[in-house]
Order: sequence, then structure tokens, then C-alpha cells
Amino acid sequence: MAETKIPRATAKRLPIYYRYLNILLDADKKRVSSTELSEAVKVDSATIRRDFSYFGALGKRGYGYDVETLLAFFKKILNQDTLTNVALIGVGNLGHALLNFNFHKNSNVRISAAFDVNEAIANTVQSGVPVYPMTELKKQLIEQQIEIAILTVPTTVVQEITDDLVDANVKGIMNFTPLRISVPETVRVQNVDLTNELQTLIYFIEHYGQQLGENGHDDQNETQD
Ligand code: ATP
Repeated sequence: MAETKIPRATAKRLPIYYRYLNILLDADKKRVSSTELSEAVKVDSATIRRDFSYFGALGKRGYGYDVETLLAFFKKILNQDTLTNVALIGVGNLGHALLNFNFHKNSNVRISAAFDVNEAIANTVQSGVPVYPMTELKKQLIEQQIEIAILTVPTTVVQEITDDLVDANVKGIMNFTPLRISVPETVRVQNVDLTNELQTLIYFIEHYGQQLGENGHDDQNETQD
């Protein structure tokens, strides 16, 4: 991914394309047009063509895109051909749900280690994932070469844990708390505030009804963060 400079909005759509192309492959479909793809993934076809052009993947007129070629290409970009181990910090309600979910479908990402300060849950195995005490955070992350962490801890402790993660060479953090965390420039943060997302959705429905952008997507939000 590092070599290909692509817009963030495009990068966000890649997993959607990837998932659908896999479905096509399973159904033995050899090729797909941008119009077909557009209907399936709810992204307009001009955007799809532009997205694909960033990778030099140009469809042939009257033929469309070759499914296998595209898939191999995206797989590489999305790093799906190597397994990425991720850590989860905070095995509460949300943490448990994510451990249980564990990105099984169609993905080479998995939570391989979890951490919690609660002694009742530390040193147990939850949904097949070992839970370590916080005292082992740095040691385990370094030993297991884990560079991505999911934060499902209370907001009161999220910054101090973030600092410990940075200290343990973590490169990416998925932050499920509503608090915006401070990290050095070398660390990437993805914020996922479920309450906020839901409230935004309700706000839009209440104020604008169905008059959203094309396909009903809040595209502005997609390109902003
Ligand atoms: P959720 O917010 O996911 O619904 P919850 O309401 O069950 O979870 P929280 O109080 O939000 O519980 O805590 C989430 C988890 O984070 C708990 O399992 C808790 O033990 C853990 N936790 C709390 N403080 C720390 C800390 N300093 N380090 C690591 N884990 C912590």
C-alpha cells in the first residue's frame, strides 16, 4: 500500500470491491463491468473507474475488468495474502464482541492477543484468544510482532494505554473510544465511535430524510477523515 499513493476515500472503498470480487470469483464469473460492480457495491461507476485507474487497472471497452486479475491486485494492496495479527486492549462488552467476531469472513486479519487490567479475565482464553494482563503488554506485542491495536477501554485510561502502545512500536490504532488520542506522526489512528455514527445517522434522517448524496451515502464524511 505504501508505494501506491491513493486518496483516502479510494482506500476506504477497496475492501468493499475486494469482498464483492471474491463473491464473483466464487460464482465462477470471469469478468465484470464497472456498471455491474456499481450496482452491487453502491458506488457510482465513474468513481469505480477513477478508483481503479489509480492502480493502472484499466477495463477494456466492451469487456470490463478481469475478476481474477483485479482480485490478485487488490489482494496485494490490501495485504490480504499475509496474515496480520492484531491486539485488542480492553475485554469489556465491545471488546468481547470483537473477539467473538474476529474478522473471520474473507479476511486475513485476526485478533491474536487481548489484554485487560481486570484480574478476573487476564490469563484466560476468550473466544479462542489469550487474554494477557496489562503488565505483559509491551513484552507480548514486541515478541509477537504485533503492530496494530484495537482500543476498547474506558476513555479515562485510553491516552495512557496509547502511550504504552506507541512505546511498544505499534504503528496503527483503531480507537473505539469517543476520545481523540494523541500519537506521534509515525502512528496512524482510525477512530470508530459507534454512538456518534448512530447519532449522525439519526440526525440526517430527522433533518434531511432521504435527501442524501448519491446512493444515500454520506460521501462527505467518507472523504473527510
Ligand atoms: P464496553 O465499554 O466495551 O461496553 P464495559 O462497559 O464492559 O465495556 P468498560 O468499563 O468500558 O467496561 O471497560 C472495558 C474493558 O476495559 C473492561 O474489561 C476493563 O476491565 C478494561 N480496562 C479498564 N481499565 C483498563 C486499563 N487501564 N487497562 C486495560 N484494560 C482496562
